[in-house]
Amino acid sequence: MINTIQYVDELIPQPPKWAVQLEQYAKVKRIPIIDKVSLQLLLQIILIKQPKNILEIGTAIAYSTLRMHEIVPNAQITSLEKNEMMYEEALRNVELYSQNNHIKILLGDALETIERLPKEESFDFVFIDAAKSQYHRYFNAVDPLLIKGGVIVTDNVLFRNLVLASNEEIPKRYKSIVKNLRNYNEQVMSNKNYYSSLIPIGDGLLVSIKLN
Ligand code: SAH
Ligand code: MG
Repeated sequence: MINTIQYVDELIPQPPKWAVQLEQYAKVKRIPIIDKVSLQLLLQIILIKQPKNILEIGTAIAYSTLRMHEIVPNAQITSLEKNEMMYEEALRNVELYSQNNHIKILLGDALETIERLPKEESFDFVFIDAAKSQYHRYFNAVDPLLIKGGVIVTDNVLFRNLVLASNEEIPKRYKSIVKNLRNYNEQVMSNKNYYSSLIPIGDGLLVSIKLN
């Protein structure tokens, strides 16, 4: 018998050819793009929310960037990437597959780039998907830029389910990531300025809406 996730996964229609190609490329190169089921929900939230100004933290090859763009082509998307090779690939993919010039990719450490954004910049949707041990910093940095009613979606908050594993089960190299993610999940879930749901699909998706 197949499991629930496989069942749900198989019901999701095939994306356009360019997206399938990027998925295959990411698989071969072991680039951690968002999984199908999480992406389906991310895009659904975007369709409901109809954001005008999206911030993405962690571009990689611009797969999630382009999928968000595809569903709201009139939204402005600013995406932050610190790895120069990823940045170059992202630029190339955006050049090839975007429908207009609404996507801006910025090279550099996300926290530094956020500090350098124009003072009047504000966002109504943020997708956090860069360094897993820095999530709390990204959240605190974008909070002042997010308007009331704005949404923050954070990917990989269960980190291969290691976040709920006992400490002996966590490989040494992941210990600090897991510790930081646990703190992140607790802090965001108990933050009174946000209404949040941690959804255990994919690698764990945390959805937060700013109440005030
Ligand atoms: N959102 C993409 C996947 C991003 S993978 C998708 O789903 O298609 C995470 C990316 O974050 C990597 O490319 C990595 O280089 C980048 N990253 C890691 N630390 C970063 C930082 N401090 N600032 C900006 N980007 C960072
Ligand atoms: Mg991710």
